Amino acid sequence: MNRDDRTNEFDTRAVTVGEKPADRADAAGDVVSPIHLASTYALDGLDPSLSLEDVDPDAGEYLYSRLANPTRRALEKRLASLEGGDHAMAFSSGTAAIAAVCLSVLRPGDRLVAFEDLYAGTKRMFTDLFGERFDVDVVFVDATDPDEVAAAIDDRTALVWLETPTNPLIRLCDVAAIAELAHDRGALVGVDNTFLSPYFQRPLELGADLVAHSTTKFLNGHSDSIGGAVITDDADLAEQLSLTQQITAGSVLSPFDSYLTLRGLKTLPLRMRKHEENAMVLAEFLAGHPAVSAVHYPGLDSHPQHDLATRQQSGFGGVLSFELAGDRDDAVAFLESLEEFALAVSLGGVESLIELPAAMTHEPLDPETRRELGITDTLVRMSVGVEDAADLRADLAQGLSRVPAAAPATSAED
Ligand SMILES: *Cc1c(COP(=O)(O)O)cnc(C)c1O
Repeated sequence: MNRDDRTNEFDTRAVTVGEKPADRADAAGDVVSPIHLASTYALDGLDPSLSLEDVDPDAGEYLYSRLANPTRRALEKRLASLEGGDHAMAFSSGTAAIAAVCLSVLRPGDRLVAFEDLYAGTKRMFTDLFGERFDVDVVFVDATDPDEVAAAIDDRTALVWLETPTNPLIRLCDVAAIAELAHDRGALVGVDNTFLSPYFQRPLELGADLVAHSTTKFLNGHSDSIGGAVITDDADLAEQLSLTQQITAGSVLSPFDSYLTLRGLKTLPLRMRKHEENAMVLAEFLAGHPAVSAVHYPGLDSHPQHDLATRQQSGFGGVLSFELAGDRDDAVAFLESLEEFALAVSLGGVESLIELPAAMTHEPLDPETRRELGITDTLVRMSVGVEDAADLRADLAQGLSRVPAAAPATSAED
């Protein structure tokens, strides 16, 4: 890693790391990383002692693109730099990245302690794949309370898995407190940092051992690539992730998706600042609207974990949710009336998206589980894009005129 990969400011590293001329394998002078599509690379000669471990991509040595590819390598360097870690591995999706962590860390008979309020696909992977097929003892806890995590960790616990803030209720957990108590018991801590990106939160600095991303969301930022990554400071874990997951299990990010994500990352700081600015405008508007009974956004003083958000994050992000007055039909009428918000799952792109978790992202959960988690039929989640805030606010206002007024708004209590 170049010195500048660590010492320059975040906004500079988001543009330059991995793509400076010195990092390029070819010498055409491109200021942008070429998309290296080659599956295989010609050798200078036959060195009989050549083994996988001897091949050093950092010295421009490549053999075969599942093992290492220059475009993917450029992205991995940048992701490591932005998360403040020594090693990054890019995978074919966020889901593949999280599976790679589990396959590297967990063995049959181990316990996995996870936040109950996780991305639905991650929860399904933990229970249906690792729990049922691989005999991992999966325990879900309310990780907003570190004591609940502590109580669930036993001698067999290999991994504690967190997401903060969560989806769709924007709950936080205290990464530093949980990392300390997990490390006391010998467990590793992984954090899915998809919702805030390293621009607003860096879990490794808070004590986590592993950070995972769906690069599909804010990191790529343009809703045109599926990808994932894991970042860590731990050299042994990095070797597991690279050797047994990328090379042996084979779920690597393609050169084209690596290029798109490198490109998207250049504007990550600009986008995140605008996502947050717009989200704050809309959160305040919604909190004062008579047809909205609660707003969940950690930037509001009324969010129950506003203090933790201020301490742990350097910004509040671009995702929020709110509770509409009225019933499910009113919620559907509201969503279908919007012009500026596409009705779609996913998040983190430049365009604003809106969805009804009970009918879309969280529909696979049974109604009882949804109720326990606080996901009602009128809870709306949105990913606020980078459009003009006044246009977005005006669109919400016209949509909300179709929804009956609630009792006086109190906002943000769960
Ligand atoms: C989207 C998402 C994932 C899954 O990522 P894919 O790229 O869709 O596989 C995991 N965690 C969170 C928080 C997500 O938002």
